[in-house]
Amino acid sequence: MSRTMLIAGNWKMNGLAVDGVALAEAVAAGSSATLCDLLVCPPASLISAVGNAMSGSRVALGAQDCHPAESGAHTGDISAEMLVDLGCDFVIVGHSERRADHGESDEAVYAKAQAAHRAGLIAVICVGETEAERDGDQAEAVVARQIGGSLPENAKAANTVIAYEPVWAIGSGRTPTVEDVQAMHAHMRATVSASHGTNFADQVRLLYGGSVKPGNASELMGLTDVDGALVGGASLVAGDFLAIAGHCS
Ligand code: PEP
Repeated sequence: MSRTMLIAGNWKMNGLAVDGVALAEAVAAGSSATLCDLLVCPPASLISAVGNAMSGSRVALGAQDCHPAESGAHTGDISAEMLVDLGCDFVIVGHSERRADHGESDEAVYAKAQAAHRAGLIAVICVGETEAERDGDQAEAVVARQIGGSLPENAKAANTVIAYEPVWAIGSGRTPTVEDVQAMHAHMRATVSASHGTNFADQVRLLYGGSVKPGNASELMGLTDVDGALVGGASLVAGDFLAIAGHCS
Protein backbone atom coordinates (compact mmCIF):
# COMPACT_ATOMS: atom_id res chain seq x y z
CA MET A 1 0.00 0.00 0.00
CA SER A 2 1.55 3.32 -0.94
CA ARG A 3 0.76 6.21 1.37
CA THR A 4 1.81 9.76 0.43
CA MET A 5 4.12 11.01 3.14
CA LEU A 6 3.13 14.07 5.13
CA ILE A 7 5.45 16.51 6.86
CA ALA A 8 3.48 18.68 9.25
CA GLY A 9 4.79 21.71 11.12
CA ASN A 10 3.34 22.55 14.52
CA TRP A 11 4.35 26.13 15.24
CA LYS A 12 2.77 26.00 18.72
CA MET A 13 2.44 29.42 20.41
CA ASN A 14 5.19 31.09 18.40
CA GLY A 15 5.32 34.04 16.07
CA LEU A 16 3.81 37.45 15.51
CA ALA A 17 2.41 38.33 12.10
CA VAL A 18 5.66 39.57 10.60
CA ASP A 19 7.54 36.36 11.55
CA GLY A 20 4.72 34.00 10.62
CA VAL A 21 4.17 35.51 7.20
CA ALA A 22 7.90 35.45 6.42
CA LEU A 23 8.15 31.82 7.53
CA ALA A 24 5.08 30.82 5.54
CA GLU A 25 6.38 32.58 2.43
CA ALA A 26 9.72 30.79 2.73
CA VAL A 27 8.07 27.38 3.20
CA ALA A 28 5.73 28.02 0.27
CA ALA A 29 8.62 29.13 -1.94
CA GLY A 30 10.58 25.94 -1.24
CA SER A 31 7.63 23.58 -1.36
CA SER A 32 7.67 22.92 -5.10
CA ALA A 33 10.98 21.07 -4.72
CA THR A 34 9.48 18.51 -2.31
CA LEU A 35 7.65 15.28 -3.15
CA CYS A 36 5.62 14.72 0.01
CA ASP A 37 2.51 16.48 1.30
CA LEU A 38 3.27 19.53 3.43
CA LEU A 39 1.22 21.10 6.21
CA VAL A 40 1.78 24.01 8.54
CA CYS A 41 -0.27 24.61 11.69
CA PRO A 42 0.32 28.16 12.92
CA PRO A 43 -1.18 29.60 16.11
CA ALA A 44 -4.84 30.61 15.69
CA SER A 45 -3.86 34.28 15.51
CA LEU A 46 -1.88 33.67 12.31
CA ILE A 47 -4.06 31.18 10.43
CA SER A 48 -5.55 33.78 8.14
CA ALA A 49 -2.30 35.62 7.38
CA VAL A 50 -0.39 32.37 6.86
CA GLY A 51 -3.13 31.06 4.58
CA ASN A 52 -2.85 34.20 2.47
CA ALA A 53 0.95 33.98 2.40
CA MET A 54 0.84 30.35 1.19
CA SER A 55 -2.06 30.80 -1.20
CA GLY A 56 -1.48 28.98 -4.49
CA SER A 57 1.32 26.84 -3.05
CA ARG A 58 1.12 23.11 -2.33
CA VAL A 59 1.36 23.64 1.44
CA ALA A 60 -1.83 22.83 3.35
CA LEU A 61 -3.08 24.91 6.26
CA GLY A 62 -4.03 23.52 9.64
CA ALA A 63 -4.84 24.52 13.21
CA GLN A 64 -3.59 23.21 16.54
CA ASP A 65 -6.92 22.53 18.27
CA CYS A 66 -10.69 22.85 17.92
CA HIS A 67 -13.71 22.77 20.21
CA PRO A 68 -16.14 19.83 19.86
CA ALA A 69 -19.18 22.09 19.41
CA GLU A 70 -20.09 23.90 16.20
CA SER A 71 -20.80 27.21 18.00
CA GLY A 72 -22.03 28.50 21.33
CA ALA A 73 -21.01 29.81 24.73
CA HIS A 74 -17.37 28.66 24.80
CA THR A 75 -15.30 31.76 25.42
CA GLY A 76 -11.89 31.67 23.80
CA ASP A 77 -12.51 28.51 21.79
CA ILE A 78 -12.65 27.98 18.02
CA SER A 79 -14.88 25.45 16.28
CA ALA A 80 -13.86 23.14 13.47
CA GLU A 81 -16.35 24.94 11.21
CA MET A 82 -14.59 28.25 11.95
CA LEU A 83 -11.27 26.67 10.97
CA VAL A 84 -12.75 25.57 7.65
CA ASP A 85 -14.00 29.13 7.23
CA LEU A 86 -10.40 30.32 7.67
CA GLY A 87 -9.18 27.95 4.95
CA CYS A 88 -7.90 25.07 7.07
CA ASP A 89 -7.88 21.49 5.82
CA PHE A 90 -6.35 19.91 8.93
CA VAL A 91 -6.49 20.26 12.70
CA ILE A 92 -4.22 18.72 15.32
CA VAL A 93 -6.14 17.23 18.26
CA GLY A 94 -4.88 15.69 21.48
CA HIS A 95 -1.34 17.05 21.38
CA SER A 96 0.38 16.05 24.63
CA GLU A 97 0.80 19.72 25.56
CA ARG A 98 -2.97 20.14 25.40
CA ARG A 99 -3.55 16.86 27.22
CA ALA A 100 -1.18 18.14 29.96
CA ASP A 101 -1.92 21.89 30.01
CA HIS A 102 -5.69 21.61 29.55
CA GLY A 103 -6.40 18.22 31.07
CA GLU A 104 -7.70 16.81 27.78
CA SER A 105 -8.83 13.21 28.19
CA ASP A 106 -9.13 10.62 25.44
CA GLU A 107 -12.89 11.29 25.47
CA ALA A 108 -12.29 15.00 24.86
CA VAL A 109 -9.89 14.22 22.02
CA TYR A 110 -12.42 11.80 20.51
CA ALA A 111 -15.05 14.56 20.54
CA LYS A 112 -12.66 17.03 18.92
CA ALA A 113 -11.70 14.53 16.22
CA GLN A 114 -15.41 13.89 15.58
CA ALA A 115 -15.96 17.64 15.28
CA ALA A 116 -13.10 17.89 12.80
CA HIS A 117 -14.67 15.14 10.69
CA ARG A 118 -18.11 16.75 10.93
CA ALA A 119 -16.66 19.99 9.53
CA GLY A 120 -14.73 18.22 6.76
CA LEU A 121 -11.28 18.58 8.30
CA ILE A 122 -8.55 15.96 8.50
CA ALA A 123 -7.86 15.26 12.18
CA VAL A 124 -4.24 14.72 13.22
CA ILE A 125 -4.76 12.73 16.41
CA CYS A 126 -1.73 12.72 18.73
CA VAL A 127 -0.79 9.90 21.07
CA GLY A 128 2.35 9.00 22.98
CA GLU A 129 3.67 7.77 26.27
CA THR A 130 5.51 9.62 29.05
CA GLU A 131 9.04 8.69 30.02
CA ALA A 132 7.82 6.92 33.17
CA GLU A 133 5.39 4.89 31.08
CA ARG A 134 8.16 3.84 28.67
CA ASP A 135 10.49 3.00 31.54
CA GLY A 136 7.68 0.93 33.04
CA ASP A 137 7.26 -1.02 29.78
CA GLN A 138 3.83 0.50 29.32
CA ALA A 139 4.43 2.42 26.08
CA GLU A 140 2.51 0.10 23.75
CA ALA A 141 -0.37 -0.34 26.18
CA VAL A 142 -0.67 3.43 26.69
CA VAL A 143 -0.64 4.15 22.96
CA ALA A 144 -3.21 1.43 22.27
CA ARG A 145 -5.43 2.84 25.03
CA GLN A 146 -5.11 6.38 23.67
CA ILE A 147 -5.91 5.25 20.14
CA GLY A 148 -8.86 3.24 21.42
CA GLY A 149 -10.21 6.23 23.30
CA SER A 150 -9.41 9.04 20.85
CA LEU A 151 -10.04 7.61 17.37
CA PRO A 152 -13.69 8.05 16.35
CA GLU A 153 -15.53 4.86 15.49
CA ASN A 154 -16.45 6.10 12.02
CA ALA A 155 -13.05 7.63 11.21
CA LYS A 156 -11.82 7.13 7.65
CA ALA A 157 -8.20 6.90 6.55
CA ALA A 158 -8.88 9.88 4.27
CA ASN A 159 -9.88 12.16 7.15
CA THR A 160 -7.51 10.89 9.81
CA VAL A 161 -3.78 10.98 10.53
CA ILE A 162 -2.34 9.54 13.74
CA ALA A 163 0.85 11.02 15.17
CA TYR A 164 2.98 9.05 17.61
CA GLU A 165 4.79 11.56 19.79
CA PRO A 166 6.53 10.17 22.87
CA VAL A 167 6.13 12.98 25.41
CA TRP A 168 9.75 12.67 26.53
CA ALA A 169 11.02 13.21 22.98
CA ILE A 170 9.14 16.46 22.37
CA GLY A 171 11.49 19.43 22.38
CA SER A 172 14.13 17.42 24.24
CA GLY A 173 16.55 16.56 21.46
CA ARG A 174 16.05 12.88 22.35
CA THR A 175 14.34 10.33 20.15
CA PRO A 176 13.54 6.64 20.55
CA THR A 177 15.75 4.27 18.59
CA VAL A 178 14.62 3.64 15.04
CA GLU A 179 13.82 0.08 16.09
CA ASP A 180 11.52 1.40 18.83
CA VAL A 181 9.83 3.85 16.45
CA GLN A 182 9.19 1.15 13.85
CA ALA A 183 7.95 -1.27 16.51
CA MET A 184 5.52 1.31 17.89
CA HIS A 185 4.22 2.23 14.45
CA ALA A 186 3.69 -1.45 13.57
CA HIS A 187 1.85 -1.83 16.89
CA MET A 188 -0.31 1.21 16.05
CA ARG A 189 -1.15 -0.21 12.64
CA ALA A 190 -2.11 -3.54 14.22
CA THR A 191 -4.21 -1.69 16.81
CA VAL A 192 -6.22 0.24 14.23
CA SER A 193 -6.50 -2.84 12.03
CA ALA A 194 -8.24 -4.62 14.91
CA SER A 195 -10.61 -1.70 15.60
CA HIS A 196 -11.15 -0.17 12.14
CA GLY A 197 -10.24 -2.91 9.68
CA THR A 198 -7.35 -3.72 7.41
CA ASN A 199 -8.21 -1.16 4.71
CA PHE A 200 -8.11 1.65 7.26
CA ALA A 201 -4.86 0.31 8.72
CA ASP A 202 -3.24 0.00 5.29
CA GLN A 203 -4.22 3.50 4.24
CA VAL A 204 -4.05 5.67 7.36
CA ARG A 205 -0.94 7.81 7.70
CA LEU A 206 1.06 7.35 10.89
CA LEU A 207 3.46 10.21 11.68
CA TYR A 208 6.37 10.22 14.09
CA GLY A 209 6.92 13.37 16.17
CA GLY A 210 9.49 14.31 18.78
CA SER A 211 12.78 16.10 18.06
CA VAL A 212 12.73 15.43 14.32
CA LYS A 213 15.55 17.42 12.70
CA PRO A 214 17.23 17.42 9.29
CA GLY A 215 19.98 15.22 10.79
CA ASN A 216 17.71 12.35 11.90
CA ALA A 217 14.89 12.66 9.36
CA SER A 218 16.43 10.32 6.83
CA GLU A 219 16.56 7.29 9.15
CA LEU A 220 13.17 8.02 10.75
CA MET A 221 11.36 8.70 7.47
CA GLY A 222 12.82 5.55 5.92
CA LEU A 223 10.98 3.25 8.35
CA THR A 224 8.31 0.98 6.87
CA ASP A 225 5.39 2.15 8.98
CA VAL A 226 6.38 5.83 9.32
CA ASP A 227 4.45 7.97 6.84
CA GLY A 228 5.87 11.34 7.76
CA ALA A 229 6.58 13.60 10.70
CA LEU A 230 4.94 16.07 13.02
CA VAL A 231 7.64 18.66 13.57
CA GLY A 232 7.71 21.26 16.34
CA GLY A 233 10.90 23.28 16.85
CA ALA A 234 12.43 22.56 13.45
CA SER A 235 9.28 23.75 11.69
CA LEU A 236 10.08 27.31 12.82
CA VAL A 237 13.07 27.41 10.47
CA ALA A 238 11.97 27.12 6.85
CA GLY A 239 15.25 25.58 5.70
CA ASP A 240 15.11 22.88 8.38
CA PHE A 241 11.45 22.08 7.74
CA LEU A 242 12.07 21.80 4.00
CA ALA A 243 15.21 19.74 4.57
CA ILE A 244 13.16 17.26 6.63
CA ALA A 245 10.62 17.12 3.80
CA GLY A 246 13.50 16.53 1.41
CA HIS A 247 14.10 13.17 3.10
CA CYS A 248 10.64 11.93 2.10
CA SER A 249 9.84 10.11 -1.08
C1 PEP B 1 5.62 18.58 18.76
O1 PEP B 1 5.42 19.21 19.78
O2 PEP B 1 4.65 18.23 18.06
C2 PEP B 1 6.99 18.25 18.42
C3 PEP B 1 7.19 17.17 17.73
O3 PEP B 1 7.97 19.09 18.88
P1 PEP B 1 9.54 18.97 18.59
O4 PEP B 1 9.73 18.64 17.14
O5 PEP B 1 10.08 20.33 18.93
O6 PEP B 1 10.07 17.89 19.47
